[in-house]
Amino acid sequence: MARIQVGRQDLPGDTKDEASYLPHTRLSKILGVRLPKRPAESLWDITIQDGKIAAVDHHDLTASEKVRHLPGILNGKGQLLAPSLCHVHVHLDKCFLLRDPQFADLEVVDGTFQEAMDVTAKAKARFDVSDLTRRGRSLIKESISYGVTAMRAFVEVDDVVHFNCLEAAVTLKREFANHCDIQICAFAQHALFSGPDRGERNRELMTEAASWNEVDVLGSTPYVEHDIKEMKLNVEWTVELSKAHMKHLDFHLDYHLDEAKEPLVWFVVETLRAKKWSNVHPKTCALGHCTRLTHFGQEDWKKLREAIDGMNVSFVGLPTSDLYMMRTKSKTRGTLAIPELIKNYSFEAAIGVNNVGNAFTPQGNCDPLSVACLGVGAYQAGTKEDTELLYECVSQRAKRVISYNPSGSHATFDLKPGEPADFVLFKEKNNAWKAYRSISHAVYEPSHARQAIKNGYLTSSHDE
Ligand SMILES: [Zn+2]
Repeated sequence: MARIQVGRQDLPGDTKDEASYLPHTRLSKILGVRLPKRPAESLWDITIQDGKIAAVDHHDLTASEKVRHLPGILNGKGQLLAPSLCHVHVHLDKCFLLRDPQFADLEVVDGTFQEAMDVTAKAKARFDVSDLTRRGRSLIKESISYGVTAMRAFVEVDDVVHFNCLEAAVTLKREFANHCDIQICAFAQHALFSGPDRGERNRELMTEAASWNEVDVLGSTPYVEHDIKEMKLNVEWTVELSKAHMKHLDFHLDYHLDEAKEPLVWFVVETLRAKKWSNVHPKTCALGHCTRLTHFGQEDWKKLREAIDGMNVSFVGLPTSDLYMMRTKSKTRGTLAIPELIKNYSFEAAIGVNNVGNAFTPQGNCDPLSVACLGVGAYQAGTKEDTELLYECVSQRAKRVISYNPSGSHATFDLKPGEPADFVLFKEKNNAWKAYRSISHAVYEPSHARQAIKNGYLTSSHDE
């Protein structure tokens, strides 16, 4: 197939510092909004001070008429205001490969996991900092337009891409600092102990990446190692590295459905315990995918809950990718039942977008709320209580899992004074009766017409 020749100036999102074109308007009041957990027919006025909620009062129509044209006042027009969204797990470096003309020859032909690994490896060999910055910028801008104010962005570090992905991520972290807090995860997608040099070069590069101040999290994929001995070495080495550099941990773990294989999760937990990881290291460990654990019964889950007791270990479901990649004839859904983990066993957990527009996950976009929407069907979770939980999984729970704002303060459904003014305002321009009146409505049918507010500043305004 002929490569399409595209001039770099024609590629979208290629403008330097696009964040400076996004709104960044300080707000002092948001008037006349509906709020979660309050009667759907009631309207409220929010006062904001120093990036936090200062007061929540019944909507005062007369007072509002007098001030709503003034700078810093946002007219909520009866729309739903909810806590802002968070990407708990998103790959910044390999997004939009299927739509990018530069990678047009790398199509999905077989739709297998191996093909996704191979196609992505080919794409990676062509990555450069400017291409990575362009695609990453597009993902971040789009995410902000969906109401995302914080994200954990995975970027790969290995002997193919070296620090290119990391450098692009650092540029974007600075560029969008006012609009979205980007936590960078330096991520070893390649083996750390297998292969021709037994992973030595990859370990050297990851060790150097761990020393970067801008790197908040270290991650690896033990399943890419050739045998179980090397997988365990991968886990031990990454735990040690995170301890040495005081970084969070994030493993892609047990990403298969083979019941005959012992789940590695037990070894991860044993290693954290043996290395006294939580005692000396007040950081978090997130475990992504874990599809093998869908075979777990009640006793296994209880045992795991006890095993992680006292440690900040959480689970991240990535259903968009899992449902596509984990083809199964078994009775499991092929993706972790995150709502059950939270409700039945009190695990900390969240759900995330994972990949956008590549061979691992060709379908979907970078709206975290679309994953919550998918969850209604994937987890059969459609009640009011379920949909609120799903929303939390892409908002306040996601923020907790990535340890965003370690002081523990996040905007919640209560939207109480003192909570950060990090919101998303759902807009409905054309049909007043279709305006969202509850969180359930936003989860059932996520529209793109939203405004994002971070730290008391309006950061995006998207009209559909
Ligand atoms: Zn991932």
